[in-house]
Amino acid sequence: MAFSLLSAYENSAGSITVQNPATGAAVMTIREYSAGDVEAIVKKAQASLPAWSKRTGKDRAAVLKRWNDLILENQEELAQIITAECGKPLAEARGEVAYGASFVEWFAEEGKRAYGDVIPTHNPASRIVVMKQPIGVVAAITPWNFPVAMITRKVAPALAAGCPMIVKPAEATPLSALAIEELARRAGIPDDVFRIVTTSSPREVGEVLTTHPLIKKISFTGSTAVGKILMRQSADTVKKVSMELGGNAPFIVFDDADLDAAVEGALISKYRNAGQTCVCANRFYIQDGIYDAFITRFAERVASLRVGDGSENGTDVGPLINAAAVEKVNALVKSAVTDGARTVLGGTPDARGGNFYAPTLLADITPDMDIARAEIFGPVATVFRFTSEDDVVAQANDTPYGLAAYFYARDLGRVWRVAEALEYGMVGINEGILSTEVAPFGGIKESGVGREGSRYGIDEYMEMKYCLFGGLGN
Ligand code: ADP
Repeated sequence: MAFSLLSAYENSAGSITVQNPATGAAVMTIREYSAGDVEAIVKKAQASLPAWSKRTGKDRAAVLKRWNDLILENQEELAQIITAECGKPLAEARGEVAYGASFVEWFAEEGKRAYGDVIPTHNPASRIVVMKQPIGVVAAITPWNFPVAMITRKVAPALAAGCPMIVKPAEATPLSALAIEELARRAGIPDDVFRIVTTSSPREVGEVLTTHPLIKKISFTGSTAVGKILMRQSADTVKKVSMELGGNAPFIVFDDADLDAAVEGALISKYRNAGQTCVCANRFYIQDGIYDAFITRFAERVASLRVGDGSENGTDVGPLINAAAVEKVNALVKSAVTDGARTVLGGTPDARGGNFYAPTLLADITPDMDIARAEIFGPVATVFRFTSEDDVVAQANDTPYGLAAYFYARDLGRVWRVAEALEYGMVGINEGILSTEVAPFGGIKESGVGREGSRYGIDEYMEMKYCLFGGLGN
């Protein structure tokens, strides 16, 4: 399928051929940027910094708003590009485009309000002023599971703050990134202020981005293992970093919960994007009194999910990103079953073959199983039984990760106690989805550093400068 947004990027002599994970078909071939190319792009980004950062917030907002409008006007084609390279159902891809645009709209507004501060002085002859200034050239490295939104969530605040940004998208999903870049050009964002660099050598390009002295900040979304490498590489030039890393989200259902709401929340939290999001519920803890009832109702809903090519109408669960992902998920499931887990549904690759995995529900999981500690990243729900509040909170927190957690309960005292006790950056209470541009997204512990979205998100791209104006007289 030819995509009009990508017509400038087709490069049959290029070395990156993007594959459709549902069919294995080649989608398009594009050029490869080498580490040397990226060096030159960094210098151009630096050269673009003075002019871009001196534009008024209002002026940058106008450009970003045009970009937002163009993304929304092209929602359908962008969604088709996402589905073609990432596999998610079209309805989810359309949702991602709207979600991705929402960050552009939000930060267009926030850029105008990046206020400083005047602090009551400690000395009558001086004044204290705090100003916020753009940090400089920023590099972003992004994953394949939200190939539009994980880019706009970084680029929009960077550009709004006055920073040029270079983005290296994931190898599997460069086309969505290029389509977003095309729309940025049409909106009037200068070439050197926002550049996508596509490569099949992430390590080499990543090294340039994390060690280059002209780059002042790295914003990464991806695995904890790679995040740690990038933090180490960024240390020599003491770059500011934002890291959105892996999770191992608990989803707790207490006896007093609204069971129907909990089942619906569980379904969407687990099976969205075939379980391939960093905030997907990974461990379901169900209290004794409702354990069997929850599993019965959850199984009914999971059994109704339709597996298929994301471009087909009615598909709920698309393919996993590649064959290695299927193997990894299957190995975790097999090992859990060997260790005593009960297969309620699925437990094997899907009958369609290829990269499809059957929606799976495993019960009677225990903390010692590998699957309890790993980020599953597939359509597999694992259910634990628990008795007491203290015990489940301890189990939920017993992980190096701290991104998202969810729980369903109605007792007000319990709701507050558990919300405060969970060691996570985000907690959904009686809600299975918590992503929105207006709230701070991010993790603690080994799930990350920094926040994206909300009024806090733009601070990641600004430095605070304190000026003491002395000698003013009394
Ligand atoms: P996933 O396992 O979900 O693919 P990764 O953390 O491996 O997550 O990938 C996220 C992003 O990090 C991708 O853009 C990928 O190309 C990039 N990446 C992977 N390894 C490195 C590396 N050593 N240096 C820089 N970027 C990397």
